Amino acid sequence: MSKVYNFSAGPACMPEWVLKTAADEMLDARGSGMSVMEMSHRSKAFESILQETKDTIRRLANIPEDYEILFLQGGGNLQFSMVPMNFTKNGADIINTGQWTKKAVAEAKKLGRVHIAGDSSDKTFTYIPKITQEDLDPDTDYVYICENNTIYGTKYKELPPHEGKRLIADLSSCIFTEPLDVTQYDMIFAGAQKNLGPAGVTLVIIKKDLLDERRDDIPSAMLDYKTYVDSDSMYNTPPTYGIYMVGLVCKWLEEQIGGLEAMEKINKEKAAILYDYLDSSKLFSNPVAVEDRSLVNVPFVTGNPDLDKEFIAKAKDAGFENIKGHRTVGGMRASIYNAMPVEGVQKLVDFMRAFEEEHAAA
Ligand code: PMP
Repeated sequence: MSKVYNFSAGPACMPEWVLKTAADEMLDARGSGMSVMEMSHRSKAFESILQETKDTIRRLANIPEDYEILFLQGGGNLQFSMVPMNFTKNGADIINTGQWTKKAVAEAKKLGRVHIAGDSSDKTFTYIPKITQEDLDPDTDYVYICENNTIYGTKYKELPPHEGKRLIADLSSCIFTEPLDVTQYDMIFAGAQKNLGPAGVTLVIIKKDLLDERRDDIPSAMLDYKTYVDSDSMYNTPPTYGIYMVGLVCKWLEEQIGGLEAMEKINKEKAAILYDYLDSSKLFSNPVAVEDRSLVNVPFVTGNPDLDKEFIAKAKDAGFENIKGHRTVGGMRASIYNAMPVEGVQKLVDFMRAFEEEHAAA
C-alpha cells in the first residue's frame, strides 16, 4: 500500500486507528453479526452506538447538561438557513470573514434583517475584525461568526462581545482541535468532514433555553431544531454510519490522544513547524495577520502563479495530496487537522525547503 499525506480541507484525512477499528468491525459490529450500516436505526445495537457517541462527545468537551447534542444532515450550508429560520426575530449581527459568512449572510437576509458588525473584505479576509459591543445593532437577536475560516486560514482567538445577545458559531473546521468551552456559546455547529468523521453528519450543540426562542413559522419539522431534540436526532433515518464514525473519532481523541488539551498541544507543534518555516522562507509566505492565524488551515503562496502550479504538481508526485488552495483564492493550502501526523507536516516542510533551494539555485 502506498501511503500519501492528505492535506485536504475536507473531506480530510482520518486517524489510522479509526479506519482500522472501522475495518475490524465492518462485517460484524460488536457481536451483532452485521455492519453498522446495515443496522436498523431503531435497533438496540444502533441506539447504544448513538448514546455512546453522545456520551463521548459530552465527556470530551465537558458539555453541561443544559446543552443538547444533535446530529443533523445538510452540512454547514443547511445551518446557514436553519439558524435564521429558527432564531431571527428582529435580526442578526454577522461578522463577515469570507466565503462561509457571506453564504450565511445571504441566507439570513431571506429571513430578516442582517447587520454586518465587522468585515475583513478590505484586506481579502486576511484578518479577524475586532469588534466592540458598540459595533453591534442593539436590536438583533444574536451574533453569528465563523470561528475558523477554512479558506483564508483565519481564527478567532477571542470571541466577540455579544452582551444581551445569543452567540452562534460555525466551528466546522476547528471543532475539537483545541479545548472547547461550550458555555461561551448558545449554539455551535460543525460539518463532520474535517475533524469529526465522514461527510454527511452535522454536529449541533445547542443551549436548551435557546430553543424557547424559536420562531413560530418554521416551515418544516426537519428544519426545526426542537424536532431533533424531541426525537433524539431520529425523526427521520439519521446518517447512522456517519454517527458511528464520529463516535470512533471522539473515542480516538479521548483514549488514544488523551483529550482536547493533548490534541491542542500536538496541533500547535504541527502549526509551528509550518509557520516557522513560512516566516523564514524567501519563496513562500502566509498572508494572514500573525495573531489571527488558524491552527489547522494554512494558506501560502510563492507570489508567482506559475511557480505555485509547479509546486502543486511536484508535491502531488511526491505524495502530498490536495495541497492546492481553494478555487476562490488560488495558491496553496495545507489543512493540518487532528488526524494529520506531525511527521506529515515535517515531511511537507522538508519538501518545501528542497523546492525553495532548487529555485534559489536556478
Ligand atoms: N463552514 C465552514 C467553516 C466550512 O469550511 C465549510 C465547508 N468547507 C462549510 C461551512 C460548508 O460545509 P458543507 O459543505 O458541509 O455545507
